[in-house]
Amino acid sequence: MARTPVDSSLTVDILVISAHPDDAELGCGGTIIRHVRQGVRVGLIDLTAGEMGSRGDAATRLEEARKAADIMGITFRENLGLPDAFFEVNKETRLLLVHKIRQYRPQVIITSAPGDRHPDHDKTARLVKEAVFWAGMHRIPTPPLPPHRPHTILGYMHADYVKPDLLVDIEAVIDQKMAAVRAYASQFHIPDSNAPETFLSQPGFLRAAEGRAYGIGLWGHRYAAEGFVAFKIPVLNNLLCLE
Ligand SMILES: [Zn+2]
Repeated sequence: MARTPVDSSLTVDILVISAHPDDAELGCGGTIIRHVRQGVRVGLIDLTAGEMGSRGDAATRLEEARKAADIMGITFRENLGLPDAFFEVNKETRLLLVHKIRQYRPQVIITSAPGDRHPDHDKTARLVKEAVFWAGMHRIPTPPLPPHRPHTILGYMHADYVKPDLLVDIEAVIDQKMAAVRAYASQFHIPDSNAPETFLSQPGFLRAAEGRAYGIGLWGHRYAAEGFVAFKIPVLNNLLCLE
C-alpha cells in the first residue's frame, strides 16, 4: 500500500492521519465515505499497526485495514510503521509527516481531536498540528517536494466527548460506515474467544458506536452525523453550503 513520492496522480483532497488502524473508521468513516461518493479523493495514513492492542496481531490488523479501505473506496492507505504506544513527537516524526503532507498535498487534514485520554490519540493531534505548520515553511527541506500547507485541520472524536465545531451528516452512509468498522473483526466481540476482553470487545460496543452517530446527529436536528473540532476557525467562501 506504500506509495512513492512526487506523483500528482496520488495527491488527495482530504488526508486522514490516525494513530491506529480503526481510529479513522470509528471517528470519521461516514465522512470519508460520503466524500468519496462525491468524487473527492481521500487518503489515509495510519501511524502504527496497533500492535500493542490486546487483540489481533499486526498482520491481522493490517489485513483488516485493507478490507476497510476497500469498503470506503479511498484513494490509498499507508501505514508508517511507527511503534504503537511509544512513538514520539520529535524531529524525526515531524519531518516524516511534513514529507507526507507535501507528498499528498491535501486541502483538508482530519486527525484525532486534541486531549483524548489515549496518549497516542493526543500525540497524533499534536504531531499533525505541528507538521502542518512546518510543511508550509520553505526552509524545512524535503527535496524534491515543495512546501504545502492544508487550509483546514479537523479533529474527530474517540471515546471522549468533545463539543464539536461542525457536523457532517452521514445518514445516507451509516450502514457503509459500520461495515468498514466491522472489518476489524479481531477487535470486537467474538463468542467463546479466549482473547483478553477490551472496551471494544464488549458485546454492546458496536451498537454504542452506531448509536453515537445518531446521538451526534440529533444535535444538528439530523438522524446521523459525525462531529469535528476545528484546529482553527473554518472560513467559508460560500454560505450556501450550510444546509
Ligand atoms: Zn486508537
